[in-house]
Amino acid sequence: MVKVVKFGGSSLASAEQFRKVKDIILSDPDRRYVVPSAPGKRDSSDTKVTDMLYRCYALAENGEDFSEALAQIKARYQEIIDGLSLTVTLDSQFETIAKDFAAKAGKDYAASRGEFLNGTLLAAYLGFEFVDPAQYIFFHEDGTFDDRTTQKKLSAKLAGMTHAVVPGFYGAYADGRVKTFSRGGSDITGSIVARAVQANLYENWTDVSGFLVTDPRIVENPKVIETITYRELRELSYMGAGVLHEDAIFPVRTAGIPINIKNTNRPSDEGTFIVENTSRKPAYTITGIAGKKGFTAINIEKDMMNTEIGFGRKVLQAFEDNGISFEHMPSGIDTLSVFVHQSEFEEKEQSILAEIHKLCNPDSIEISTDLALIAVVGRGMKSNHGTAAKIFRALDQADVNIRMIDQGSSELNIIIGVASKDFETAVTAIYNAFVQK
Ligand code: ASP
Repeated sequence: MVKVVKFGGSSLASAEQFRKVKDIILSDPDRRYVVPSAPGKRDSSDTKVTDMLYRCYALAENGEDFSEALAQIKARYQEIIDGLSLTVTLDSQFETIAKDFAAKAGKDYAASRGEFLNGTLLAAYLGFEFVDPAQYIFFHEDGTFDDRTTQKKLSAKLAGMTHAVVPGFYGAYADGRVKTFSRGGSDITGSIVARAVQANLYENWTDVSGFLVTDPRIVENPKVIETITYRELRELSYMGAGVLHEDAIFPVRTAGIPINIKNTNRPSDEGTFIVENTSRKPAYTITGIAGKKGFTAINIEKDMMNTEIGFGRKVLQAFEDNGISFEHMPSGIDTLSVFVHQSEFEEKEQSILAEIHKLCNPDSIEISTDLALIAVVGRGMKSNHGTAAKIFRALDQADVNIRMIDQGSSELNIIIGVASKDFETAVTAIYNAFVQK
């Protein structure tokens, strides 16, 4: 078996965390390829090294003195070196970084140094070889990930190595200029490395014991999801459930490699498995509940709308022309509602409304704001009747008025619109209806 292990910033924020990481890696000989993030927060008031680097580089770019800011970053690494009694120094690396910052080497280069330096330390600490992703992970000139070149070069490189540390978050353009993924992008690197070595498992180590059935800020101590499919995960992350970078799914998904989300601080917890398909039934019919506030519904009414061919297209045209994407579009015989993000809509409101009037000539347009959407997601719904009834009963008992219902044709999710003020009550009610305490 081959496992690729990615450790997030909080898992590598201090010498103490480095020790846990080493124990985890050495406890399983299959854990051979390691992808580290930059040091994250040691406690809630701390600053991530990546953010320190962005700030430090902003000074350099403005021609201001950045030496103190860089010294603070160096101190973060020195604390780890001292805490682990390592003999390595990062003096020459920091000299190079100072020169490159002064020469304005670019924001991406600056941010990537967090992972580069942490990878250097981790490789020394584990006695593994260091592989610089700037030479093996590539981007196209337009900034998109160059899948083919990367797969070819990275798999050839790693095929010759039994163990390696490959820092997360960055790669380079063909000409060698460093380019990062978006924030949280070390998850993507882990996935790319897992595919390159044809791993049996991609372990993503973080500071939670997997995906939770719902947001712990709303429901206290929610249960952990044992197994989730990629499609369910996509539905939940779209609705705001964080933990894994969305783009991290694609490389491993195409290669059929499962992901296991694990907790560095509680390594014996099973965590969550993310898989393409499974015969394992979700524990509670539903797999997860996620949601977001900040939606607006534009409700359009027109007598005999049902007979007017092209009406829906014309309504959507008004949104498209203004560059606004819509979330949902429930309809009645003579009514049609379009759900959009409130903040995006507000900016273009008058021009959209004017265009709907012009194109569709409706009897009335009414706008409802401060709505929240809740996605109840679960592959188990397909084979179980009564899920919707259970949700609606729970909302009724919690005195929540339902503003919209939308069930996708995949029967993988039910989306419910409620007033923002009812959001937390609704999520809690649905959670309690399905999850046994
Ligand atoms: N260090 C980067 C960030 O803070 C990338 C990562 O941690 O995945 O976004």
